[in-house]
Amino acid sequence: MVLIMESYNCKVSKRCGGCQLSNLSYEEQLEYKQRQLNSLLGGFSRVNKIIGMENPLRYRNKAQAAFYFDFKRQRTASGIYQSTSKSIVPVDSCLLENENADRIIVTVRRLCDSFKLKPYDIKKGYGFVRHILVRNAVKTGEIMVVIVTATPAFPSKNNFVKALLSAHPEITTVIHNVNNSDINLMLGERSTVLYGKGYIEDELCSLKFRISPSSFYQVNPSQCEVLYNKVIELAGLTGSETVFDSYCGTGTIGLIASKSAKQVLGVEVNRAAVKDAIINAKQNGIKNIYFTCDDAGEYLEYITGEGERFDVVIMDPPRAGSTVKFLKSVVKAEPKRVIYVSCNPVTLKRDLEFLVAHGFRVCEIQGVDMFPFTKHVETVCVLNKV
Ligand code: SAH
Repeated sequence: MVLIMESYNCKVSKRCGGCQLSNLSYEEQLEYKQRQLNSLLGGFSRVNKIIGMENPLRYRNKAQAAFYFDFKRQRTASGIYQSTSKSIVPVDSCLLENENADRIIVTVRRLCDSFKLKPYDIKKGYGFVRHILVRNAVKTGEIMVVIVTATPAFPSKNNFVKALLSAHPEITTVIHNVNNSDINLMLGERSTVLYGKGYIEDELCSLKFRISPSSFYQVNPSQCEVLYNKVIELAGLTGSETVFDSYCGTGTIGLIASKSAKQVLGVEVNRAAVKDAIINAKQNGIKNIYFTCDDAGEYLEYITGEGERFDVVIMDPPRAGSTVKFLKSVVKAEPKRVIYVSCNPVTLKRDLEFLVAHGFRVCEIQGVDMFPFTKHVETVCVLNKV
C-alpha cells in the first residue's frame, strides 16, 4: 500500500476532481466503499467484503481528452473536461489511464498544430477538433483512436492519419466522428473509418468481444472479469434455465452465461451495441442467444404480457437505475432469481426495495472495486423469489 501512495502523485487531482478519493490510501478507499455499501444495503442482507485490485492504477482501457487552444503558449492543449465548471484541466498523463493511450493523445494534439487544425471553442462555436477517445483492448493489444470534430470536412485527413500511424504503429483503427451538439465529450451520430476495421476486439472470460466507438464496454478489464464471474456464480445456472439479460450492452454477460443456460434473451437500447452483440454471438459460435434493440421496460412489459416467463433475470442498468415499468415486468416474469449489477448503490437500494416489496429476498451483496481512486462503487447482488 505504501508503494501505491508513493506512485499516486498527481499534481492536478484537486483541480480535475476525477479522483475523489485520492487523499486516501487504497485500503482506506476500500473501507470507505464498504462502509457506504453496508449503510445503504446492509438492511437487505449481509454485505460481502468488497473485492479490490492488486494494482489500482492505470486500469482504464478508455482515455478521453478534450482539446482547447492555449492562448498563452499559442498552441493546442488537451485535458480533462470538468462537467461541473465546463472548464478543461490540462493533463498529459492520467494515473488511471493507460500510459500509451495518453501518449497517443499527446501525439494527436501535436499533429493538430502541425496540420493547423484548430481546437473547437464551445463558447464561440468556432474551430474543428473537440476531443479524442482512445480505447485499448488489453488481451488482443488492439487500439482504437476516435477523433471527434465539430464539422465533417477533415482537411488533409489521409496525411494526418499517416503521420499518426507512423508515430504509433500499434494503433489498429482510426475513426472520425462528427459531434455538432452543444454537449462536450459526446460522440455524434456520424462516424467514418479513416483506417482499419472501425472497431477493436477484446477477450473477456475466454470469449471475444467486438467494441464499436459508441458501444458500452466496462473500463476496467481485469475487475470486469471478476465481476462477470461473480454474476455467473450467483446466477447458479445448471444448463436448463431461460435467462433475460437486460441492459445487455454488447451482450457480454448474456454470452458468458449462455454456456450454462438453455437460452438467453438480451435487450439493449443502443443500436450499435446490439449490432455488436449479434456479431459477438456469431463469432463465438453461440446459438442459444437472441438480442433485441428496445427500451428494457417497454420490451419486458410487452413479452410478459404475451405470456413469456424467465427462470433468471440479469439486469445491469445505467446509474439512474431501473424503472417501475421494468421492475413490475420482472415480477410478472416470475423468475426464481434476479441478479442485479449496479454502478450506483443509491438507485440500487431504491430498486431492491421495490423487488423486496414484491416477493423477492436479497440473498447476497458483493461490491467489486471497478473504479479505484474515484467514489464510484460497482455492486452485484442476488435476489431469490420467496
Ligand atoms: N451489461 C453490459 C452493459 C451495462 S451498461 C455490460 O456489462 O457491458 C448499461 C447499458 O444499458 C448500456 O449499454 C446502455 O446503452 C443501456 N441502456 C440504458 N438505458 C436503457 C434502456 N432504457 N433500455 C435498455 N438498455 C438501456
